[in-house]
Amino acid sequence: MSTEQTLLQRSNSKCELCSNEENLSVYKLPPENQETAEQSILVCTTCLEQITQTSPIDESHWRCLNDSMWSTTPAVQIMAWRLLKALSSSSWAQDLLEMLYLDPEMQTWAESASIDITANESSAATLDSNGSQLLDGDTVTLIKDLDVKGAGFTAKRGTVVKNISLTDNPKHIEGRANGVRIVLVANFLKKVV
Ligand SMILES: [Zn+2]
Repeated sequence: MSTEQTLLQRSNSKCELCSNEENLSVYKLPPENQETAEQSILVCTTCLEQITQTSPIDESHWRCLNDSMWSTTPAVQIMAWRLLKALSSSSWAQDLLEMLYLDPEMQTWAESASIDITANESSAATLDSNGSQLLDGDTVTLIKDLDVKGAGFTAKRGTVVKNISLTDNPKHIEGRANGVRIVLVANFLKKVV
């Protein structure tokens, strides 16, 4: 029997996450390389596209985890855990995550890969107040007075900051003002072209 057939039987031909009965396919849980029924789940296109980041996350869709997290199939529990973890900035998901007890072995498996649903956001471009993309080496001016935390001065509106560098946070850049290296909120800057 193929993996797909095994999974169709196991799931009664339903998406194992949201019970949808259409457009089902096998999803192999990373980081496994081999496709086995134990390490795969049957999912619908709606679930699959969000898991694989080809569609934006629709948080309301994942309320289905409320039911599927109680599945007796380990791979489904693992997937529910990873999804809830990824959504855990929302309190409902955090609550469910706290209820979902995994034994140590399962916990290790669950943590062996993660779903980064914020990937799109964190790889987003850094934009100035006009929506222009900022890049390393750009020159910007401040569009308002900014208190520089820890440095004890206010960077005045109109201050020119040359040779900025991007940071891990798309909303922040680093630059030098008054000879001090400071972090600035991109939103309060204007790119000098
Ligand atoms: Zn589904």
